[in-house]
Amino acid sequence: MSANDYDLIIVGAGTAGIPCAVAAANNGAKVLLLDKADDIGGSLHTSGGHMSAAGTRRQKEKGIEDSVESHRADIDRISNGGARKDLVNLATDLAAPGLDWLEDNDFEFAPEAPRIVYGHEPYSVARTYYGPEAGRSILKVLRPLLEKAIAGGNVELRLNTAVKSLITKDSAVTGVELADGSKVTANNTVLASGGFGANAELFEELEKATLVSAAWPTSTGDGILMAREIGAAIAGAGTYLPTFGGLPSPDGTGRVRWTDRPLLVASERPPYEIYVDKSGNRWVAEDEESIDIKEHALTGIEAMTFWTIFDSVGMENSQPMVVDWSIDKFKEQANVLPGVFAGETLEELAKNAGISAAGLKASVAKYNADLAAGSPDQFGRKFRPAPIEKGPFYSLQNHAVTLITFSGIDVDADLRVRKNNGEVIPNLYAAGEVLGSAATMGQSFVGGMLVMPSITFGKLLGERLSAH
Ligand SMILES: Cc1cc2nc3c(=O)[nH]c(=O)nc-3n(C[C@H](O)[C@H](O)[C@H](O)COP(=O)(O)OP(=O)(O)OC[C@H]3O[C@@H](n4cnc5c(N)ncnc54)[C@H](O)[C@@H]3O)c2cc1C
Repeated sequence: MSANDYDLIIVGAGTAGIPCAVAAANNGAKVLLLDKADDIGGSLHTSGGHMSAAGTRRQKEKGIEDSVESHRADIDRISNGGARKDLVNLATDLAAPGLDWLEDNDFEFAPEAPRIVYGHEPYSVARTYYGPEAGRSILKVLRPLLEKAIAGGNVELRLNTAVKSLITKDSAVTGVELADGSKVTANNTVLASGGFGANAELFEELEKATLVSAAWPTSTGDGILMAREIGAAIAGAGTYLPTFGGLPSPDGTGRVRWTDRPLLVASERPPYEIYVDKSGNRWVAEDEESIDIKEHALTGIEAMTFWTIFDSVGMENSQPMVVDWSIDKFKEQANVLPGVFAGETLEELAKNAGISAAGLKASVAKYNADLAAGSPDQFGRKFRPAPIEKGPFYSLQNHAVTLITFSGIDVDADLRVRKNNGEVIPNLYAAGEVLGSAATMGQSFVGGMLVMPSITFGKLLGERLSAH
């Protein structure tokens, strides 16, 4: 018996932390699972819950041919080779067994899953899975498994309990200090505390961008800060990429209304509109098929904010502009809800939207003139169904949105936390978004490559750290 209070301390009872606790407890380990929130689940409460995996039972049942190699090749293509090969290999190896494990525990698939999803750069094969309640469908599986492990006596769950720092002895981690100053010791500690998309200060420091967030509010980077404090290296600098477009929140808190999402993927809604920046200038081919190219272009414009501009013809023919909004709803919200604008003329629209009227008029005039003359579009846009000329005119203000954070704690292929010199910090491990999404996605959004690896890496650590 060790002299420590527990075999394993897990910081964060979310996507990665719960499977970690369950797996360790099922192997007989004594686990302390800590969460600063008043409920378990973390980002699963808001996440799309998309998971990617190749070679699953579900694919086989639906006659979909896929392989781990093909999954890896797609990740490599979408991430432009920017993800960590060793961690991608681990994640893709564990993905199908991980998804089958969820299914064994009664995960409810959306009937159409898996499918190819176009919100991010698409995979070449239908390998994205989700449940009818998005992230909450996953939590519906994890919650009873955790309750069972708690009832079995091997997991102690403490909610409303924030971990403040890591305790070390001779550079090895021996436990954690809690916000109330008390200390707990364990043979091993796993950081599963999520990303930092709700911590503007850390975000500006690590991602070098202004935070407009739709991340879960507990994603404050605590694990990253406490690991850094004891010498852990931070990986993923310079890999930040925003999600393409979200409406500003009426409360002015720097968050976005993620549920009212403008539909901006060309393959899902061919755009009648143009996109302009605050000066009224266009900056990308709006019909660009690759959302990844659009996301990267967005990082180059002022305040990473743009306005879609369309007229009544666009309004009638290109729907829905916002997911689940009718034309009537859009018109009712115009000049009422922040970020939704209308004007009888382009000047009036520009004034209401707070953008340059001269710039906007010039951009629209050039777009219309090139179209009328049959000249190529200045950004190479091909889909030009109609000029923008029939008022009233409309606009949606779109911020670059942060859902996930790209930088995080550096680990080796065994998920052991490393220092800048590559040395591991004994007894300290990490899983989930605390690693930074760049680890499994590079500087891109690779569908399902956060939730699935969070679950499987957490589970793997639980299994390994309980092996006697
Ligand atoms: C809107 C949205 C949609 C998304 N959609 C997808 C998707 O479809 N597919 C995909 O792959 N990814 C998606 N993601 C990302 C993905 O959901 C997350 O990266 C993943 O769920 C993170 O898991 P985690 O275990 O690392 O963190 P979390 O699930 O957030 O869990 C972390 C837990 O740690 C706790 N914690 C934090 N600090 C402390 C502390 N100091 N002490 C104690 N506890 C602490 C928190 O309270 C929280 O419960 C989405 C994210 C968002 C915001």
